[in-house]
Amino acid sequence: MQDVVIIGAGPAGLSAAFWCDELGLDTLVLEQAEQIGGQLHQVYNPIENYLGLKTRNGEELLAIFAKEVDSAEFDLWTGTNITSVDLKARRISLASGENLQSIGIVIASGVRPRELGVPGEKEFIGKGVIESGARDRELFAGQDVCVVGGGDAAVENALLLAEVCATVTLVHRSKKLRARREFAERLRPNNRITVFTESVLTRIIGDEQVQAVEIQRKEGLKPFQLAVRGVLIRIGVEPNTELFREQLETDEKGFIAVNSQQETSVPMVFAVGDVSNPSAPTISGATGAGATAAKIIAARLNAR
Ligand SMILES: Cc1cc2nc3c(=O)[nH]c(=O)nc-3n(C[C@H](O)[C@H](O)[C@H](O)COP(=O)(O)OP(=O)(O)OC[C@H]3O[C@@H](n4cnc5c(N)ncnc54)[C@H](O)[C@@H]3O)c2cc1C
Repeated sequence: MQDVVIIGAGPAGLSAAFWCDELGLDTLVLEQAEQIGGQLHQVYNPIENYLGLKTRNGEELLAIFAKEVDSAEFDLWTGTNITSVDLKARRISLASGENLQSIGIVIASGVRPRELGVPGEKEFIGKGVIESGARDRELFAGQDVCVVGGGDAAVENALLLAEVCATVTLVHRSKKLRARREFAERLRPNNRITVFTESVLTRIIGDEQVQAVEIQRKEGLKPFQLAVRGVLIRIGVEPNTELFREQLETDEKGFIAVNSQQETSVPMVFAVGDVSNPSAPTISGATGAGATAAKIIAARLNAR
């Protein structure tokens, strides 16, 4: 029997664990990946908005977090496959056959990139389907590329790619981009970037490498092919909540509903970080929410 089991070892889960440990709670963190850090592994841009620390990328910030983790006393199991969770009973079953029981559960399972679901998307990963503009843009220097999406991440990547690529075509399904004004304003004067709104990418075409994409502009018009060597898809994220979705309150996309104390609709079950924060996901928000959940759990346990 643990005091707290935390699911996920990204910034939110690590912060919750750090604080639980600090508050004297018997804590176990379960992480499905072989390594801790969550999305920090995908951050190739400098992190300049985490108060008190500036790092060149996510790995560098993670190294600082990992030092703290090493000196803390909570248990951390990586490469752990959770097969089922009974939130009301606070019982967790693992693929290894173990069953865990705890007084509190903190869900810190984060998000994953949303897939477009078109032919070629998976087949051409690393063969023209670009995972990060910041990391990979030099590989596409002088080439034509396409970016799908209209939010901050899509537009920021389009701007980054346009610094080295011959042309960047930004494909967005709605009439208006969702990206913050600062990014959208930088698009307009950039003559390497073409924006197709009310358009969808329907297919990625190639043999060994990406050679073209098929784009459908407005309903009814015939799709056309655009020759490109690279495609980057940034159409938002999905919460990792499949294990819990039926057992607690979520929004229509599956993000977990919480109150200001990070409590979910199930007693002694908390959710922290991106999995419960669709509108303002940040590292600061994630670590702050982890701290809040830990303090509330400690207070509840002390009051017993
Ligand atoms: C390219 C990029 C750039 C970014 N730049 C910034 C920035 O400059 N500043 C900023 O503040 N934020 C930035 N962010 C956002 C920031 O990384 C996230 O807000 C933060 O990582 C959220 O932390 P989290 O712990 O909630 O979730 P995550 O980081 O997603 O971690 C969740 C963890 O849970 C694990 N998990 C999932 N399901 C299970 C399961 N069933 N069992 C066990 N473990 C599970 C995952 O493997 C993962 O390790 C960026 C994100 C990206 C992708």
